[in-house]
Amino acid sequence: MDPFLAKARHLDETDELREYRSVFFHGEEELVYFDGNSLGRLAVENIARINDLVGQEWGGRLIRSWNDSWYGLSLNLGNKVAGLLGAEQGSTLFSESTSTNLYKLAWSALRHQKGRSKIISDTLNFPTDLYILQGIAKEMNAGHNIQLVGSRDGIYPDLDEMENLIDENTALLTLSLVTFKSGYLYDMEKINRLAHDHGALVLWDLSHAAGAVEIDLASTSADLAVGCSYKYLNGGPGSPAFLYVKPDLIRKLENPIQGWFGHHDPFAFDLGYSGADDIRRFAVGSPPILSLAAVEAGLDTILEAGMPEIRRKSIALSGFLMEMAAGKLDKYGVELASPQDPHRRGSHVSLRHPEAWRICQALIHPPKNRKPIMPDFRAPDNVRVGLCPLYNTFGEVLYFIQSLEEVLLNKEYLAFSAERPDVT
Ligand SMILES: *Cc1c(COP(=O)(O)O)cnc(C)c1O
Repeated sequence: MDPFLAKARHLDETDELREYRSVFFHGEEELVYFDGNSLGRLAVENIARINDLVGQEWGGRLIRSWNDSWYGLSLNLGNKVAGLLGAEQGSTLFSESTSTNLYKLAWSALRHQKGRSKIISDTLNFPTDLYILQGIAKEMNAGHNIQLVGSRDGIYPDLDEMENLIDENTALLTLSLVTFKSGYLYDMEKINRLAHDHGALVLWDLSHAAGAVEIDLASTSADLAVGCSYKYLNGGPGSPAFLYVKPDLIRKLENPIQGWFGHHDPFAFDLGYSGADDIRRFAVGSPPILSLAAVEAGLDTILEAGMPEIRRKSIALSGFLMEMAAGKLDKYGVELASPQDPHRRGSHVSLRHPEAWRICQALIHPPKNRKPIMPDFRAPDNVRVGLCPLYNTFGEVLYFIQSLEEVLLNKEYLAFSAERPDVT
C-alpha cells in the first residue's frame, strides 16, 4: 500500500474529532471542501434553529422576543466566543462586520493615544484593514502616518523591521494574528510586549485565527481585537463580527459611532449621549438577529470539541499536506507559500504556482472519474487550502494532493479560461 494512503487511513481512524464531521451539512457528499477559512460549513442544527427563529420567535412572538431572548444575544454570544479567545467575561461583544469594528477600535485607540502619530501594520495584512486605517488617518487629519512592515518572501513579515519601526511616537500596531494568504501566525505575547514597552497599543484582527489556533487575549495582555465569525467559526455568510476590549481600557476609550445601543440606558431615550460603562459601549444599533443567532451552533461545537484538540489536528493536517506536497509536487514548480514551522502557521496552507487560478478551476470542475475539490484562489498565484479540523479528513488531503498531481501532469488547467468572476 502507498505509505501516504496507509498514513491517512491510520490518522483518520484514530482522529478524536471524527464524530464532528456529521455536525455539519454535506449537501454534495463527494465534495472536498477546503474553503472553510472563507465560508465555514453550515451546522445542521442551524436549519431547525433558524426555522424556529423565523416561525416562532419572529412570526409568533413578534416584538416580545426582544425581551424573551434577543436583546442580550450580542453580549451572551460575546461571552461564549470569549471562551475561545482566552478573554475575560464581559470583554467581548458581537456587532457589525470586522471592517466596522476595526474602524471603531482603531479610531478609539488613536484618540486615546493623542500626540503619537505612527500607525504600524504589515504588507501581509488583509487589505480592508489597511483601507480602514487610511480612512481614519484622512478623517482625523492629525498627521498620522501608516508604516507597513514588509516581507521578503510574501510568507514571513520582517520582524527586525518591525522592532526598528516601533518607537515612542507609535500610537497603534494593527496586525492579523494569522495572515490571510501565507497563514503566518504571529507570536501575540511577544508583539504585545514589544508594543507596550514603547507605550503603543495593539489591535489584533483574529479573522483567520478564531477557531483555528489557540488564542489567549487576557494572559498575553492584549489590548484590542476584532474578528469575523463566518470563517472557522461557521457562523454563515456575512454573520456579525466580534470585538474585544481589555477590561481596564473599556471606560478609557470612546466609540466613534455613538448609537443608542452603546448608550448606558438605551430605553431611557435621553436626548444626550452617555456611553455604557461596560463592553456595550462599543455597540451601535439593533443587531441582525437572524444572522447573529446562527453563530451560536458553531461556537458551541468548537467549545465542546476544545481548541487544544482542534489545534492538534490542524497541525497534523497541514503537516501531512506539506509532507506530501514536498514529495510529489516540487517537480511541477509548486512552491510552499506558508511557514514550515507549525508554531508559526495557522490552519491554512498556500501553494504557489503561476497557473494557480486555472489549477483551482481544474480541481473544482474535474473529469467524471474524479471528485470536485474546492480550494481558494488568492491573487496572483496562490492555491489556498483551508483545513478545518472539525470536518476535513486526512483522506481528503491525500485526495487533494493526488488530484493536483494529475492536474499538473496532464496540464488539465490549459482547458480553462484565465478570466475570473467577481468573487474569488
Ligand atoms: C475575512 C477578513 C475580514 C473580513 O472583513 P468583513 O468586514 O467581515 O468583510 C477582515 N479582516 C481579515 C483579516 C479577514 O481575514
